[in-house]
Amino acid sequence: MQKIEGIITNAPKGGATYGNYQIENDTGDVEVQTLYTGVCGTDRGMVAGHLQFAYNPENQEFTVLGHEAVGRVIDPGSSRLFRKGDLVVPVVRRPGDCVNCRIGRQDNCSDGKKHEAGITGKNGFMRSTFFDTEEYLVKVPDQSMKDYAVLTEPTKNVMKAMEVFRKISERSIFTGEDSTYGSKRCVVIGTGPEAYLYAMAFSDLGFSTSITNRHTVDDNRLNICKFFNLQFVDYSTNEKAFDSGIDVVVDTSGDPGTILKFYRKLNYNGMVMLFGTNGKAQPSEISGVDIDLMIERNLTIFGTVDAAKIHYVQALEKLSRWGSLPNSPLKKLITGLYNPQDTTVFTRRNPTEIKAVIKWE
Ligand SMILES: [Zn+2]
Repeated sequence: MQKIEGIITNAPKGGATYGNYQIENDTGDVEVQTLYTGVCGTDRGMVAGHLQFAYNPENQEFTVLGHEAVGRVIDPGSSRLFRKGDLVVPVVRRPGDCVNCRIGRQDNCSDGKKHEAGITGKNGFMRSTFFDTEEYLVKVPDQSMKDYAVLTEPTKNVMKAMEVFRKISERSIFTGEDSTYGSKRCVVIGTGPEAYLYAMAFSDLGFSTSITNRHTVDDNRLNICKFFNLQFVDYSTNEKAFDSGIDVVVDTSGDPGTILKFYRKLNYNGMVMLFGTNGKAQPSEISGVDIDLMIERNLTIFGTVDAAKIHYVQALEKLSRWGSLPNSPLKKLITGLYNPQDTTVFTRRNPTEIKAVIKWE
């Protein structure tokens, strides 16, 4: 048994408490001191008891929360990849034994038997220290990324989604006549952290990129949009903003009515990337005309979840670039730092919040 100080929940019932606990030993002998952990909708859903698919590790009555983390190696143990003081990001998903899991693509697990740290059958990283094997730790290339490398976990989802995007875009010539994406339009639904990271990635590709919600947003959000060349559109007052057509829709809302509204504006060969989930969203009807549109225009709607270790590496490269731009507002995506003892972060959400982070150091 191993002693920890951290935040636990009882999956799937919920709740969040901070304290000292005994857990089954972690696998691996690289000891990591947690520096920051991000709080996301999944953590809040677990604490509220809304995520029925969540479950505790075997022989344990609780789960240590947290899947978005960055830490510092205290003791590399038997690892030859890491040294004391290295910054590392742990991988969330751990493989089961299906064919995808066996090739390091547990993000594409084909039987659902993978585990997810802090969510399904494995303790998470909201604790002062943890052990892991080198295989599931990704080295942060630059110490200056310490204060924003906690964004790696949400960014790695975007890197995987871009891989899927590239595969699907091969079904037609997806660029403009000049071989770039300069004439293409991407709309990201939502104004949370994932929405920003998706929009920034598409803007980097050259797309004319908008981020949209059905309300106005605060100055911090507008400033980030401006810096990363994103247009913010309040579609509650500007319904016609996207009538000229969209090539890629990225949804982070999980709301069927909203998704369909934007789907119906897709150009030929367009696609809708689904990333947000909301099991409680109101249903919305798909008509025969919607199906016609999909066929006649070669449209694609696809979902994408999680990412492989390679995407963590790509995410760190991307964050390094974004973070080192002169006057970069990347750190402004983190809108609040909380103490581990303050578990109200799971039940209250400040309206100006983009990403809430717990500071462990
Ligand atoms: Zn699997």
